Formats: sequence, C-alpha cells, structure tokens
Amino acid sequence: MSWFKRLKEGIQTATKNKKETPDGLWHKCVRCGEMTTVKDLRENLYICPKCDYHTRVSSTDYFDMIFDGKYTRHFDEIVSVDMLDFKDIKSYEDRLTEAYKKTNLKDSMSVASGKVNKYPLVIACMDFGFIGGSMGSVVGEKISRAIDYCLEHKMPLMIISKSGGARMMESAFSLMQMAKTSAKLTLLAKKRIPYFSFMTDPTTGGVTASYAMLGDINFAEPEALIGFAGPRVIKETIKKRSSGRIPNFRIFAGARISRFYCTQKRPQKQTYRFAELP
Ligand SMILES: [Zn+2]
Repeated sequence: MSWFKRLKEGIQTATKNKKETPDGLWHKCVRCGEMTTVKDLRENLYICPKCDYHTRVSSTDYFDMIFDGKYTRHFDEIVSVDMLDFKDIKSYEDRLTEAYKKTNLKDSMSVASGKVNKYPLVIACMDFGFIGGSMGSVVGEKISRAIDYCLEHKMPLMIISKSGGARMMESAFSLMQMAKTSAKLTLLAKKRIPYFSFMTDPTTGGVTASYAMLGDINFAEPEALIGFAGPRVIKETIKKRSSGRIPNFRIFAGARISRFYCTQKRPQKQTYRFAELP
C-alpha cells in the first residue's frame, strides 16, 4: 500500500495556496453548537434551526427583517460627550472611539422609519455590541426625537430593547434618561399613538425600569433575559440563584388591560414576524 503512505513529511502546500473558509460563512449556535451557514440562519430569521435559540442580532438586521425593504435612518449624527471626564480602566473617550470602530455605529440606539406590511412604523432599536447596549444621554435623545417624529407624522413607535442598563460612564445623565423617555412617551399616549415595546435578550436595568415596560403592547423574544438586576447581582444580593428568564412567554400588557399569554409548548419551527403576532 505504498500509494497510501505519505511520501514527504509535513505540510507541502504553500500558505498562499491554502483554501481558507471565508470568515462569516458559518455560524455556530451558542446554545447547542449546531453549525449553520449564515445564509440559512438569516433565512430562518436568525433562529437556530436545531434548538430555536434566538441569536443576538444587530439593529440593522432587525430593520432588514421587519421593514418591507426600504427604510430611512434618522438622527445618526448625535454622539455622546464625555461630560464627566470619566475614567475607569480606560477613559470614556477611548471606550467610545473603540465602540465606533467595532460597531460602525454612533451609539447603542438606532432609529429608522419605514413600512411594515404597508403600514408606517418608526423603530428605535438598541445594539448590544455598543458598550453593552447601555443607555446614555444619546439613547434618551434619540428616543425623544423619534417620538417627536411619530407625533409629527402620526406614526406608531416600536422600541426594540437590548441593554445591560444605564451607562455608568455618564452617571446621573444616564439615569435622567429614564424620566425623559417616560415623560416623552406620555405625549404619544395623549395623542393616542400606539407604542410597542419589544424586549430582546437581554433587557435589564434602567431600560426595564423605564421605556421597555411602558408599551401599550409589551412583548418579548422567547427566553429573553428580562429583569431589573442581572442574575449575578441577584445572586450576590440575596445569595440565591435566579435565572431571570421567561421561558416561552409572550407578554401583552396595555395601559388599562393587562394580559399574560403563556404557551406551555411553543410550536416547533414556527416563527412570528412582528406583523403576524396573534
Ligand atoms: Zn441551537
């Protein structure tokens, strides 16, 4: 079986002739480890085909999925200012520069308007990749301007939350955004313009304590981590483990009517697009 033996030792192929798998062609599910092509995953609305895990996606992906094709981005020019000259391990300025480079975004909130099943909608969507989706003054300002846009054009608003909470580098300025966004949302309610709050994994801290829970309809992605304090903080405080997850729940809450729908078993391989929610 001499033909079966390696005649020369070591790898003979020159590095430049090596055939590499292009980056980003395959995706590995973080829960079950299933390998899928990015194309298949995208066609399945970023849900793992094997275990139904909802992969964390960016605001651009949500806009592409939800809007009927074309949409217009708004308020991309607003950027954070290091008002407190904040420094922990790194300075806030450095952190911002790093986040701009990494995400190609100007902050953790992006606003866009377009049509969903031919109905107009404004979506304000958070990105976890930008300093943990933290809520700073830019997030508050963008929500505020998105609401003004909704009032002016009589369009409903949807906020897609994905956040670790308030941005500690902006300290009290972050916390003020809770009051600012909550107050602004009442203007929508007064004009009877609907506001949908869509909570994705994770929705915690100051975001949960303000706009994420104030929707005329609140709904969440399956098994999204939703809570005020994260599991680690709860464990350290009460010395008990809490997953904080809501398995297979879809939550609907209104200003006057609060309803909870709990499906014992989520239909397999069935996904809902926003406009098709029952
Ligand atoms: Zn999976």
